Amino acid sequence: MQFIDLHKQYKVIEKEVRQGMEKVLNHKRFIMGEEVTAFERELAQYTGVKHAITCASGTDALVLPLMAMELDENDAVFVPSFTFFATAESVTLAGGTPVFVDSDPDTFNMSPESLKDAIKNVMAEGKLKPKAVIPVDLFGLPADFDALCKIATNHGLMVLEDGAQGFGGEYKGNRACSFGHIAATSFFPAKPLGCYGDGGAIFTNDDEIAEILKSIHVHGQGKDKYDNVRIGLNSRLDTMQAVVLREKLKIFPGELDARDKLAALYQSLLKDVAKTPVVPLGYRCSWAQYTLQAENHQLREKVLKDLKEKEVPVMVYYPIPIHKSTAYADKYQSYTSLKNCETLAKTVFSLPMHPYLTEKEIQEVAKAVKDILK
Ligand SMILES: *Cc1c(COP(=O)(O)O)cnc(C)c1O
Repeated sequence: MQFIDLHKQYKVIEKEVRQGMEKVLNHKRFIMGEEVTAFERELAQYTGVKHAITCASGTDALVLPLMAMELDENDAVFVPSFTFFATAESVTLAGGTPVFVDSDPDTFNMSPESLKDAIKNVMAEGKLKPKAVIPVDLFGLPADFDALCKIATNHGLMVLEDGAQGFGGEYKGNRACSFGHIAATSFFPAKPLGCYGDGGAIFTNDDEIAEILKSIHVHGQGKDKYDNVRIGLNSRLDTMQAVVLREKLKIFPGELDARDKLAALYQSLLKDVAKTPVVPLGYRCSWAQYTLQAENHQLREKVLKDLKEKEVPVMVYYPIPIHKSTAYADKYQSYTSLKNCETLAKTVFSLPMHPYLTEKEIQEVAKAVKDILK
């Protein structure tokens, strides 16, 4: 059994991907080929967002919009601490200062109360200027955008959705990557929609922001290709990756349904022995991860050890909240309690999740977990 099985998925799309690759090998427009343009159109249609702009990675999909905001070190960008490192790293790379916010103990997403508290304390201190917030759709569940966007509007903050894990998720009938002013996603192979290398995309309904992003991702080019009007970088999706992604997007809705069914089966088998994922009313989760919470750190460590012995794949996302990472521990300034993030890092564990798991495999994994925790 694999934690994420890309072999089984490849069998479904092999013929089409090989044909598409062959086409690219013939026309040789490896950069910005017509497959990229077609994929961007399909992405915009899928998410219901006006502009989809592809780039070289999910990290770049965060960095480019932050570059467009022209941050300096006095600009505060609010980020959760319990997420993948890139969420905070992108802020530092773009010249701003990340301010860490606590997570909701049930959804694991950014807590609106903690965001309010952090903004209040940043303003009271008067050193940093609140500029933007990056809610993350952690493990595939869209963040609480109604509450977070309301707070952002009250304080004039830009909202940048980190939908690297959320692609395919929904909130009140709207798809992930359509929330906030700008959204970012990743096509890293293990994400819900992954390519065969690195890739990412940025989404926005704002024509002006879209124009700036299109310029920044090709060296800040102006109307004339060799008149560079701003500092940008080279961040593009390869034509070959667009071939893979177009085929995967076709089977994506069916894959999401399969993930939903498997998650429901996990839930029914495990709800009595561990805290299973909470998907509040009105949300759809893309199940980038299926993450449980043990009662305490000791039990979590026992689960990891015993599952490894039983050869059941298990992972911890994330064992260290970003404010405790070596890169930020000495540097960051605390503006709100980060207790929930610290508890989550000590108690969560993730089980195998991909659309090609069988019910029998889910039952095996669930039984192994139950035998340890009951
Ligand atoms: C994976 C991920 C990223 C970065 O994406 P890459 O394509 O690996 O650069 C950013 N944020 C979150 C929440 C992620 O899970």
